[in-house]
Amino acid sequence: MGKRILLHVCCGPCSTASIERLLDEGYEPVLFFSDSNIFPYGEFMKRYSNLLIAADHYGLEVILDDWRHDDWREAVKGHEGDREHGERCSLCFRYNLRRTAEKAAELGIGCFTTTLTVSRFKKSSTIFQEGRAFPGFVEIDFKKKDGFGRSIALSRELGLYRQDYCGCEFSRRDS
Ligand code: SF4
Repeated sequence: MGKRILLHVCCGPCSTASIERLLDEGYEPVLFFSDSNIFPYGEFMKRYSNLLIAADHYGLEVILDDWRHDDWREAVKGHEGDREHGERCSLCFRYNLRRTAEKAAELGIGCFTTTLTVSRFKKSSTIFQEGRAFPGFVEIDFKKKDGFGRSIALSRELGLYRQDYCGCEFSRRDS
């Protein structure tokens, strides 16, 4: 049995390479889909159902968080007009990582990390900076070791839906 780690998952495709790497490194991941940033709700459920395909492939448990989009909107208030990669995204990472830290504590899992670092469109250093605010955060840069390329290959293999915008209504507007 490996060390349990709560893995915040943003979507099925990004989960694949992250899970593979955690398993390779001897961890036992528990998946946590906590993404109140995703809009609309139908898209949130679509990404969740694709995660279930990946989770089933690896035989892992998935915990689904509530969709608290109004609460998330409050957290990013004043930054609706920001471009992607600006302050709104830092606040968004903070929101999801805070919920993951709280869930890890509730479940008695001593550490957590996030699939957000798989994307070559997101700066891992910004994600790490936000994660460090919470106890138990483990800095893993999943885009290293060709993680992004591997996520695309594995997603194709499993037939997963790959979205064409980051997640919130503002990224959809700007995409
Ligand atoms: S663009 Fe992506 S990371 Fe940035 S606020 Fe929207 S959903 Fe979050």
